[in-house]
Amino acid sequence: MSSSPQFHTIRLILGDQLNAKHSWYRKKDDGILYLMMEVRQETDYVVHHIQKVLAFFHAMRTFAEALTTAGHHIRYLKLDDPDNQQDLIRNIDAVAQAYKVRRLEYQLPDEYRLDLQLRNACLPTGEPYVSCDSEHFYTERNTLSDHFSGKKTYLMESFYRMLRRKHGILMAGHEPIGAKWNFDQENRSRYDGKVPIPNELRFKHDVTDLHATVVQAGVKTIGRVDPRSLPWPKSRKESLQLVRWFCRQLLPFFGTYQDAMKSGDPFMFHSRLSFSLNTKMLSPREVVEAAVAAYRDRPDLISLPQVEGFVRQILGWREYVRGVYWANMPGYAERNFFSYVRELPGWYWNGETGMNCLHQTIRGSLDNAYAHHIQRLMITGNFALLAGVDPRAVDHWYLGIYIDAIEWVEITNTRGMSQYADGGLVGTKPYVSSGNYIDKMSDYCSGCDYDRKSRHGDKACPFNSLYWHFHQVNRPLLEKNPRIGMVYRTWDKMSATEQDRTLRQAGYYLDRLDKL
Ligand code: FAD
Ligand code: SF4
Repeated sequence: MSSSPQFHTIRLILGDQLNAKHSWYRKKDDGILYLMMEVRQETDYVVHHIQKVLAFFHAMRTFAEALTTAGHHIRYLKLDDPDNQQDLIRNIDAVAQAYKVRRLEYQLPDEYRLDLQLRNACLPTGEPYVSCDSEHFYTERNTLSDHFSGKKTYLMESFYRMLRRKHGILMAGHEPIGAKWNFDQENRSRYDGKVPIPNELRFKHDVTDLHATVVQAGVKTIGRVDPRSLPWPKSRKESLQLVRWFCRQLLPFFGTYQDAMKSGDPFMFHSRLSFSLNTKMLSPREVVEAAVAAYRDRPDLISLPQVEGFVRQILGWREYVRGVYWANMPGYAERNFFSYVRELPGWYWNGETGMNCLHQTIRGSLDNAYAHHIQRLMITGNFALLAGVDPRAVDHWYLGIYIDAIEWVEITNTRGMSQYADGGLVGTKPYVSSGNYIDKMSDYCSGCDYDRKSRHGDKACPFNSLYWHFHQVNRPLLEKNPRIGMVYRTWDKMSATEQDRTLRQAGYYLDRLDKL
């Protein structure tokens, strides 16, 4: 701490606001005290993966050290600091009183609950807090609602094209490079083993002391970690290393194998950049620009479908889900279109199921705090939807287990895209499949206790009967959807005996979900 504690302003930095490029830090000001804290309010609102807790605190501590080195004044409350009251507002009050400060500034948070908390708070002296932009996203909170004003559904493609045009990304004048906006059709290959998958770039941070603090404090967590070797980046510098690694090693095949899944390989050609992006150590612009630059430098190595597939995820999906979140909160967190009430099967917490696709995905998630998009959508999400699980329980699981899970991006993907709990605001139809799709996109079925080809009978793949059961019980809600009509026509052509056996099989499985 400075020898001259005459501060006129406190600036609050939240754990996901590690944006070293923010205009706040352009100038040193001895009158400003930056405040950061590790609080139970944040470790306990859901049960997080241990790697997530450690990676956030580790990155926060590194960020605070960098600010101190740069000459800024910081008050950093560690989890076990005796002055830590474990609550955002109580800590702000205490620090404001200790330094007699009458102004609190904060960057707009991305989560509704924190936004509400900070918006309604004021200093002990009565002054309301003052907010400013986090200077991270391409879009504003309301860009999406303005773009779709008056529309009942939000088409991601339309939003994405608007942003491509606006920012001139992969554009030739007013037209997309390659005369196509979307290369999705080319980006759906099964992994055939012809191209070796490079090892992921793992950092090996020794966070033994931090781990001991978290354990000693009694923070409840899930998942596994080797605290001598935490693999997640702790700084902007390391995050940039990850970007370079991705562009060189993984981008050349990112699009092609984007939807592929493989036993024992949780990362494949995915970037693992979501943690760095969501903590704002990296900006979406620099990641998109790096990928586009890599494509321009080496078009012989990186084709347009690869880079477009990647840009779509960040400029398209990421900005889009944020817009959906702000256009629909707080009501979005209550949506339950199918009125589902089941609990999550117990094996979501330990991976111990005979269904190999779920076993691989959940075990990988517990080991790494990570699963890639198709595993989240078409394995764990698909099963939860087919099994009729309460979206609140599904949300809690996703919000806890993944390294990148922060509500604004988690809930829109989970309730919206994956569970269709918003009734079709995000997805034009529920993302569900039978075992057929999983077999097409992975090698899971060959190592499974269940038979992918059977719909009923001993060891029939549960996805098969549950798929038809899902459509049958939700027929009144889904039948009119033009994208689903074919499913009902196929079902109606089955014999009554076949339909009956299939529904009985589904009923049998639904009665013993925990034992599958
Ligand atoms: P890559 O496949 O390498 O993609 C590059 C980047 O694109 C990601 O880092 C991410 O920033 C962005 N991106 C890709 N898809 C999406 C998407 N659908 N929405 C928003 N951004 C996207 N992502 C989160 O960041 N946090 C979450 O809590 C989260 N929960 C999800 C829950 C479900 C049910 C589903 C289906 C998806 C979820 N996603 C979430 C989106 C996506 O699965 C992750 O962003 C991605 O798997 C992160 O790994 P990666 O960095 O290797 O991504
Ligand atoms: Fe999953 Fe069914 Fe394939 Fe087994 S057979 S891995 S349960 S899809």
